[in-house]
Amino acid sequence: MIKRIGIVGGGISGLVTAIFLAKEGYKVSIFEKNTLLSETSSKTTKLLHGGLRYLENFHFREVKNGLNDRHWWLKNFPQHTNKIKISIPFINLISIDLLKFFFGVKLYGLLAGPKSLGNSELSLIKKSSDDLLNENYKLKLSFFDGVMDDNLLGEDLIKQAKELDINIFENYEISSLDINGKVDKQNFDNIILAVGPWTKILLQKNNIKSLKDIDYIKGSHLILNKQIKFGIMFNGICNSRYIFALPYKGLTLLGTTEERVESPENPSISQKEESYLLESFNSILKYPVRKEDILSSYSGVRPLIKEGKNSHKASRDFFIQKNNKLISIFGGKWTTAPSIARKIVTIINDE
Ligand SMILES: Cc1cc2nc3c(=O)[nH]c(=O)nc-3n(C[C@H](O)[C@H](O)[C@H](O)COP(=O)(O)OP(=O)(O)OC[C@H]3O[C@@H](n4cnc5c(N)ncnc54)[C@H](O)[C@@H]3O)c2cc1C
Repeated sequence: MIKRIGIVGGGISGLVTAIFLAKEGYKVSIFEKNTLLSETSSKTTKLLHGGLRYLENFHFREVKNGLNDRHWWLKNFPQHTNKIKISIPFINLISIDLLKFFFGVKLYGLLAGPKSLGNSELSLIKKSSDDLLNENYKLKLSFFDGVMDDNLLGEDLIKQAKELDINIFENYEISSLDINGKVDKQNFDNIILAVGPWTKILLQKNNIKSLKDIDYIKGSHLILNKQIKFGIMFNGICNSRYIFALPYKGLTLLGTTEERVESPENPSISQKEESYLLESFNSILKYPVRKEDILSSYSGVRPLIKEGKNSHKASRDFFIQKNNKLISIFGGKWTTAPSIARKIVTIINDE
């Protein structure tokens, strides 16, 4: 008998897991309360990455995992993904920060191994040729990472899911489930809870103990009417969080922020976040951007596993909780959805 799997949540984790399971021969159904990929998974910085900055917190295994998955995306979806050059600008020719990043990007390349996207490079900024950064900046350290067109990539994944005969139920909110395979009134051999930042809420609602706590950390992005040639990673004003400015469809994608919120429902950008992003970007630019250059914005709530007070240092790794037939996903990144899916396939195959 073919096993029937019910997946609650049609974000990137649920969708990729559904595709992997269907390829193994399971009969899969996805229940999504809105539309597929409409929540956190459509609110990212659009990077396919191991996360250079997580090396700072010694999350080596997590970074290596992300770099492997970055390779998976670039290899399997070359039409919707690309490599991107990202530069980190420095004011001083020698500084602790420069040394830290110099060894960081080298280690990032080493962890990628043969899957590296190109060598990192330290270069002087020529005043005459750089019309982006202000004249305080003397050096830049460049490395390569992955980016995606998440709309087209998402459409491709949804097409694959339909071709694999996965039953997709959109605008279908699940309120009750149990550990014996019941979702609302339907029975499955396994249920995968892939509801991103809603995992703990849904488990608790159904009186199932959640082994992890979720830290609801909102992140916002701006799309600016400004063309840039390469990506930049820089420090935000007043704190040591990193912000990316990335070329995006002839414009600039600027983000992100980190703001603790009460719940994952309906996140939107605050005035404070908007000013923080603009002022931080202007602190490195030669010609400032203005409020009028903001074309649009979006916000999402990260499904971060709670670790400590500083969410910036929190791991982006995932955790799988198993209660009899119910498998619940905590955390993860868009990039690591294939790792999550592989792990779930192994658990179900081994049952
Ligand atoms: C600001 C920001 C920037 C990010 N940047 C990056 C990046 O550059 N690269 C990267 O790899 N990752 C990034 N991430 C992380 C990434 O977005 C998430 O890890 C990933 O999208 C989580 O996917 P998910 O499927 O677990 O959750 P979601 O995408 O939130 O999917 C969960 C789904 O479950 C549905 N759902 C909830 N409750 C129910 C219910 N009761 N019944 C049915 N359906 C339900 C929701 O509607 C939702 O569609 C970023 C995240 C944020 C917030």
